[in-house]
Amino acid sequence: MCRHAAWLGAPRSLASLIQEPEYGLLRQSYAPRLQRYGTVNADGFGVGWYDSTGAEPVRYRRTVPIWADANLPGLARIARSGCLLAAVRSATVGMPIEEAATAPFADGPWLLSHNGRVAREAVRELADEAESPCDSAWVAAAVFARRRAGHPLGDALAEVVVHAGTKDPEARLNLLACDGTSIAATVWGDTLFLHLDDGVLVASEPLDDRSGWQAVPERSLVLASPDGVHVQPL
Ligand code: GLN
Repeated sequence: MCRHAAWLGAPRSLASLIQEPEYGLLRQSYAPRLQRYGTVNADGFGVGWYDSTGAEPVRYRRTVPIWADANLPGLARIARSGCLLAAVRSATVGMPIEEAATAPFADGPWLLSHNGRVAREAVRELADEAESPCDSAWVAAAVFARRRAGHPLGDALAEVVVHAGTKDPEARLNLLACDGTSIAATVWGDTLFLHLDDGVLVASEPLDDRSGWQAVPERSLVLASPDGVHVQPL
């Protein structure tokens, strides 16, 4: 099971998701506290952020463990944005370890991470092709097909999760996506937490021991934008 985290709010650095918090994604890569499936997240990592020069995010993905990339701490300190997403990966058995299978997946302004697993047959009919045979790449392709058809971020996530989750009752489909000005996330089979201060943190598990972390109920859709944060049943 992977761990992922995103931020929407006042500009801050990627380091605020990774190495600055006591239980940031760096620590979660080797010692997650609430992980239900798998023990370490050492099969790669990815980060994405939006700078002021364009609508499309900058993305950086590797197949090495996040602790093994000596260049990342410096990069994460200077990569600042009002919208950030990062993920560490524990590959599902049988899935390839390659950059194309590593979140965040990207299409236009959208970034997406999948924490879970799903039978590929349950999503393959929703997209023409995926960049990797990995189940998560197919989930991303299905969501991105809806983006191209004009569906809003939250609707696209909800439609794919409900479709795939109905076809594969064993599926775990915690998705986390953003587009530079909003975040959408689903809870379907694993944990997800929110923390609000001068923006919103959305994360598989709390990044620190501050008070105020709220667990999102199972089978929910989270929508965060400058207008606020809404949680609704899926
Ligand atoms: N199934 C996805 C993969 O293989 C996600 C795995 C996970 O959440 N651990 O990468």
